[in-house]
Amino acid sequence: MSNGETKTDVILIGAGIMSATLGTILKELAPDWNITVFEKLGKAGEESSNEWNNAGTGHAALCELNYTPEKDDGSIDIAKAVKINEQFQVSKQFWSYLVKKNLIENPGEFIQPLPHMSLVHGEDNVNYLKKRFEALSENPLFEGMEFSDDPDKLKEWIPLIMKDRTSNEPIAATRIESGTDVNFGALTRKLFEHLEKQKVEINYRHHVEDIKRTENGAWEVKVHDMEGGKIEYITAKFVFIGAGGGSLHLLQKSGIPEGKGIGGFPVSGLFLVCNNPEVVEEHFAKVYGKAKVGAPPMSVPHLDTRFIDNKKTLLFGPFAGFSPKFLKTGSMLDLFTSVKIHNVFNMIAAGAKNFALTKYLIEQLMLSKEQRMEELREFIPTAKSEDWDIVVAGQRVQIISDNGALKFGTEVISARDGSIAALLGASPGASTAVSIMLEVIEKCFPQYVNEWEPKIKEMVPSYGMSLTANPELAQEIETDAVATLGLKDARTLQEA
Ligand SMILES: Cc1cc2nc3c(=O)[nH]c(=O)nc-3n(C[C@H](O)[C@H](O)[C@H](O)COP(=O)(O)OP(=O)(O)OC[C@H]3O[C@@H](n4cnc5c(N)ncnc54)[C@H](O)[C@@H]3O)c2cc1C
Repeated sequence: MSNGETKTDVILIGAGIMSATLGTILKELAPDWNITVFEKLGKAGEESSNEWNNAGTGHAALCELNYTPEKDDGSIDIAKAVKINEQFQVSKQFWSYLVKKNLIENPGEFIQPLPHMSLVHGEDNVNYLKKRFEALSENPLFEGMEFSDDPDKLKEWIPLIMKDRTSNEPIAATRIESGTDVNFGALTRKLFEHLEKQKVEINYRHHVEDIKRTENGAWEVKVHDMEGGKIEYITAKFVFIGAGGGSLHLLQKSGIPEGKGIGGFPVSGLFLVCNNPEVVEEHFAKVYGKAKVGAPPMSVPHLDTRFIDNKKTLLFGPFAGFSPKFLKTGSMLDLFTSVKIHNVFNMIAAGAKNFALTKYLIEQLMLSKEQRMEELREFIPTAKSEDWDIVVAGQRVQIISDNGALKFGTEVISARDGSIAALLGASPGASTAVSIMLEVIEKCFPQYVNEWEPKIKEMVPSYGMSLTANPELAQEIETDAVATLGLKDARTLQEA
């Protein structure tokens, strides 16, 4: 990149799954546009999108109990679960399109079929799980889900979890075969390799320091070339801030009124990873439990088979914790420097309203390895400390909205004229990247959406439609994704 003022059509800040997805979609829709990426680290997918920094769950609400709350009348609200499942179907369709077009190869390196299970203890929780199962079973997107409270059946499904379990407490689980484990790090790297071939200019070790509006309504981005030590200025008509935990600071620098009042609260994560291959072989599922009182929804404990570096492994967690950093590679001053006059009262209000969360995070932070092992033993009664190591996961910056509420979802904040957009928040995150990036396109390029719609429908046949209301299309899409992404083959392999 030359020094001085350079022009491009689109700037993507950050080389995580979000920028990778937006860049790939835009290259399909507008192949002639010039896209420039700036990433402060040396490679793509090294922060939250990295396989060791997130849980790799293809979130489709098949097993996550926090997406199906119990209503006051005792019935189960499945609206959020259906929405998240629909979003994941969008991701699967887009990934299938990319594979069919040979734009990315070897889908088995980033997606594997894996049963998704929910596991609960105690009579009330068992009743809840049964009602949840009945409510979801009516929806075609959850077809194939099974429920059991029979210990013998559970021994078949989850032998490691049931081994030497002595408690007489009622126990039940649901299981669905169509779950997945997604290696978002591998997918991000594949998408960036593809973008490089498409002549997208990708600048690693380039730190974006400032964003300013120019007189003609474009954006000027100030970038520090960390290798060359130079400062560069690049202007673009459209900027996407896909900087993960770094997005809030950059949004604040842009000065757009839509970003005013918003704050961020970082929650860090740890996993226990199994180092004993014999134990790893005894488990094959993602098994989600129920969150503890005061725990944020993303801290629901789960025991997951994972596919990382072409190897099967076993992770348990995440344990939450607190660090003021907004990125794993961030600064201890991140939280402090995100406090501005316009958001300070909202941040104080969020702190006051979320006392239970603060207490929970402090307690989690203080846990010793042995105390963490005790939590694991609620899943695997026979777990031995020497078989498990601690790995530090990514940081999640939860959004504090302009009314002082702490939000656990993801949100696109964009300027009214659509010239800049930022993605904040972390959950359900990477799994829903495609539908979130289509939302960015609708918000920021409304003038092109009609023209682009046929191509979007080629990439995502269900675009603009509800799969719940179109079960035949849902079935068609699932069959296609299973064949194209190789999910069926892997399932057969596992059974063999
Ligand atoms: C513990 C944990 C578990 C999770 N589990 C799941 C899961 O099971 N399933 C799921 O779907 N999602 C999960 N997520 C969420 C998911 O990981 C994130 O939503 C997703 O990776 C975010 O992608 P991103 O591209 O926005 O950010 P990132 O992957 O963090 O990428 C942002 C990039 O921007 C760069 N950057 C930052 N600031 C600057 C700057 N100023 N200049 C240049 N570059 C910059 C960073 O270096 C980074 O590479 C989890 C997250 C965590 C932390």
